[in-house]
This record gives sequence, C-alpha cells and structure tokens, in this order.
Amino acid sequence: MIKQIIFTLFAFLSSQIVYSQTFDDSTCWEYFKITQDLKNDKPLDKKTWNQFLKNEAMQVYIKDQGFDSIYIDNYRHIMEIVYMPKNSAALQERLKTPMKNWWFYIVNEYKVNEDQMKKYLTDIKKDPKHYFDTCYQYTYQMLPKQYQKKAQEYKVSIIPIHNDAHVTNNWMIYTLMAAYFHDINRMGAMGGHEFHHVLRPQLVFEVEDQDAVIVNLLQKILNEGSADLTDKIYEGKDAVKLLEFQRGTRDEFIADGAKVIKNIDSLLSVKPLDRSKLKMNKLINVGNTSGHVPGCYMSAIIEKAGYKKELIKHIEDPFQFVYLYDKASKKDKDAYILSPTTMNLVRELDKKYRSKASIEQHQ
Ligand SMILES: [Zn+2]
Repeated sequence: MIKQIIFTLFAFLSSQIVYSQTFDDSTCWEYFKITQDLKNDKPLDKKTWNQFLKNEAMQVYIKDQGFDSIYIDNYRHIMEIVYMPKNSAALQERLKTPMKNWWFYIVNEYKVNEDQMKKYLTDIKKDPKHYFDTCYQYTYQMLPKQYQKKAQEYKVSIIPIHNDAHVTNNWMIYTLMAAYFHDINRMGAMGGHEFHHVLRPQLVFEVEDQDAVIVNLLQKILNEGSADLTDKIYEGKDAVKLLEFQRGTRDEFIADGAKVIKNIDSLLSVKPLDRSKLKMNKLINVGNTSGHVPGCYMSAIIEKAGYKKELIKHIEDPFQFVYLYDKASKKDKDAYILSPTTMNLVRELDKKYRSKASIEQHQ
C-alpha cells in the first residue's frame, strides 16, 4: 500500500515537472540588484552589465534586435542617468522631451514601476499554471473547440530591458515593460495572442513560385488579423492602464488598413498581372509588413458585420478570410469593397491549391 502511495505520488510529481509550463523571470531579479546599487549612487561598470546580458534569453533578444556593443553601452549609460540620484537633474531635463529621449523614458518607466513589477512577477510565480491558463482563455476566444489545446513546450522568459516581445521556436521572450503593462491592463491577453499563433490550425500547401507572394500575403493577413481579435481589442485609447504609446495600436492599424487594402486591390487588379513581380513591401506599403495592418482592418469589418463565429470556424483558411471580408464589406457603407478582379484571383488560387492542401495543427 505504502509503495503504491509513493509510486502514485512520484508519478504525480513527475507529471507536474514534465507538464507545467515554465515562467522564467530570473533576469528581472538580477536587474533589481543592479538598480539597487545604482539607487545608492554606485555606478554600473561594464563588466557587471555585460555579465548580466549574458543570460540566454537576453542574448536571443539582443541578437533579434540587432544591438551592437555601442548600443548596449549606451543603454548602460542611460541606466546610470535614470537610476543614480546624483544624476536626477540631468534625467528631469531629458524627460521633458520623451520622444527625443526615448530610452530614458522607457528606463524611467522601469524605475518608477519597479515595486509594482516585483509584485506582478511574484504573484505569477506563486501560480504559473493559473497565469498560463488565463493566457489560453484569450487564445481560445478565436479557436474552434477542437483546437483549444495547450502548447506546453513553450516557455516564457521575461527580460527587464526594452519594451516589446520576441517569439522564437518554443520560446516567448517578453520584455518586462510589455508584459507588465499589458497584463495589468488585461491579464493574459498578450500571451493569449502569441499562443494563438502557435495553436491556430493552418491550411498548408505547396505553392508555385509565381503565386508565392500573394499566398504569403493572404496567410500573413489571416495570421495577425485573427490573433489581434484576442488581445488588441482591449488596448484602445481608453485602456488607461497601458502607457500612452501602448494604446490604440489596433485603431492605428485599422486606419492604415483601409489605405493598404485599397493599394493591394489596385496592384492585384492590374491587367495583365505579372504575379512573379509582386513584392510584399509594395503590397503592404507601410512600415509594418507583418500582416497586422490589412489583417486588423479586415477582421474588424468581419467582426462588425457579425461574422466572427464564421471566422473562428474557418480560422485555418486564408481564402475563406477574404470571402468573409467580401461579404462583410458589402454590408458596411464605409468598408472598402475588393474589385471583382481581385476576388476572381483569390477564387482561382483557392481552386488551384485547395485539393492539394492539408490542415496543419500544433502537436
Ligand atoms: Zn502576432
């Protein structure tokens, strides 16, 4: 009997170890040691700073952002200005024009929110499972029931520099600035968006070279357009818990989206159309070519027309996304209506590839 209990207990514990998703905030606590020294007017030497940056998550992020040693040393210098009391006059001067002194502003936000950030991390650490479950609830808002699974192999690391997030294979690296503010605004929504990318089933098929750009465009639009309905809908101008620059992103995407859709439509309805000459940055003719801009616009029109459920039902399907948009835009007097030429092109691609396509899902 005792043996059995021990065995059951062991099996339970090992399953917990294998299956609980990890949340790594170790660099944040190292950072708070550094900031404590700085707050005591102790300068931050290069050796300590470089040692701190050696952490693997930090290195992946730094590489992704393309920071060089000059940039990194400049950030160290900014830390000294922001945190050392003896530099407070210089800091106040810089904070008068935050747009010109962007990283002073960001690092200062780390400083003034440090106590709340510590509490935020401590609270999650008490129950990471609850944190991940909360994220998945947002993910599932845009997934059919059969795909509402977990991506247990993904770990989340929170790093205390900069202000955005980076996702690589099996690893989500969030900056503390992004995670903290987005989570106090809507706990779990930002993670929910990223897990949506992982768990969304996708219609995959081999594409001929000449069609590659158009098909990639359609996939990108659906990918971000659908994921943005999990989190960005809560981050409007009225989301006062976010910093000002973090608010209203979706509204901006939607505003640009109307112009981008029109541009895409005009480029695709040229006759004769040489598809092999199409370029992504000419189609999505704004700085952000990830698919957010046209995607947010189209999913907003779809949602407004009451077709969100249909979108969820066909969440893997980039062609259906366009059909739904087309149906929705015709019900909306302000929406841009795609030309018959573009619609025919999408139908043609659908017909050409659907029979060879399969649905790929997270395993
Ligand atoms: Zn995304």
